[in-house]
Amino acid sequence: MDNFSLDIRTLNFTIILFSCIYSIGLMFYQYNQRKIPGLTCFAISLLFIGAGPMLLSFRDGPSDWITVVASNTIILLGFLLTLYGVSMFRAYSLKIANGLTVALPIASGLTYYFTFHVPSIRMRIIVISVYLSAVTLASATAMMKGENNDHRLPMIGMASSLCAFSMFMLGRVIWSYYGAELTDFMAAGLIHQLTFLFSIFLVVSMSFFMLWLINARLLHSIKELSTQDALTGLSNRRAMENVVPKIVEKAKLQEEALSFIMTDIDNFKYINDACGHLSGDKTIVKVAELMTRYLPRSAQAIRFGGDEFLIILPRHTAAQAAKHAEKLRGRVKAEPCCENSRQSVTMSFGVAQMEEGESVHDVISRSDHALYHSKQQGRDKVTVLSADGEYIKQPFFQQRA
Ligand code: GH3
Ligand code: MG
Repeated sequence: MDNFSLDIRTLNFTIILFSCIYSIGLMFYQYNQRKIPGLTCFAISLLFIGAGPMLLSFRDGPSDWITVVASNTIILLGFLLTLYGVSMFRAYSLKIANGLTVALPIASGLTYYFTFHVPSIRMRIIVISVYLSAVTLASATAMMKGENNDHRLPMIGMASSLCAFSMFMLGRVIWSYYGAELTDFMAAGLIHQLTFLFSIFLVVSMSFFMLWLINARLLHSIKELSTQDALTGLSNRRAMENVVPKIVEKAKLQEEALSFIMTDIDNFKYINDACGHLSGDKTIVKVAELMTRYLPRSAQAIRFGGDEFLIILPRHTAAQAAKHAEKLRGRVKAEPCCENSRQSVTMSFGVAQMEEGESVHDVISRSDHALYHSKQQGRDKVTVLSADGEYIKQPFFQQRA
């Protein structure tokens, strides 16, 4: 092992190379795509992590001010910017980052002190390693505890890399504390050479996991767009294929009631014709807003198509679902059908409760039949269709419920 040695200058150039490529690449990405909070800061941090070692490699050339104090301060600043970048990206509080910003001049001042006043390479290594250990541990925490809803696997990957680096730095502190004074940093022992190797590992892995996280966010937003109705923001029919089987499965497992309401705006063609298509759109949006506002939180409203909506109510019997439909019918009726119009919007409703052994298709079809019945009976009504084929209208139903 004694003969095993890594050339610090070569490792230095490798860090510079990797960090510059990733930094510039991510900056171009940020410039070209939808802006991602924290990504520019993260990209700049990589540039700093690369620039610091570049100055360090001019050892024995320019003054110690540049090759020791400035270079180490730039490295520390680079890692601090990583913490800011990760915190912003994951929507994590900047309190720890701000605290470590205050600690940066102290670490930099100590580096100066152990360069010019009490020269000690060993003490400088301890100061820098303590700071790097703290800042990378804070970045790992920000990655895991941030509020944004990100893909867990790359989050764990990035946090593990940062944690491993932090632990390594802690080991370096202990090693240096009990070790002998160093005479030449460039010819320092294996643990110090491994620091550079670990830095390359961290730059590469952080960049990789960051790209993975960005990609996962992109995929998530595409999926959301494809399952969300553009006009109302409600789930669309495509989402239904994923959502409904899960709700049904849960209701079956927990042996809970599950009801479906099919609803459709009355004479919507007239609203379109009389007030224009854009006013018609506004009516659809308004109806969707009323659903979000007045239906219970557990309800799942889906824009089934055109002016038709499907509402799924877990833990609700047909009687309870019909009460919600009745409430919604009243709220919708309070709305004018378009601006400056006294005529109100009305909706018809059909309610069905899922029976044991009944398929989703059959219960939706039953609620559709109930809706058709409401339309036939003059619209602006709620009808329940029981499993044995009985149409129950609202006043009669309320007495029975
Ligand atoms: P009914 O009471 O029987 O439901 O009569 P209706 O006039 O509402 O008839 P229907 O529900 O069949 O009409 C739906 C109309 O909704 C047909 C279509 O032109 C219109 N429509 C569908 N999607 C949109 C949309 O996104 N915006 C607007 N403005 N109109 C739409
Ligand atoms: Mg209609």
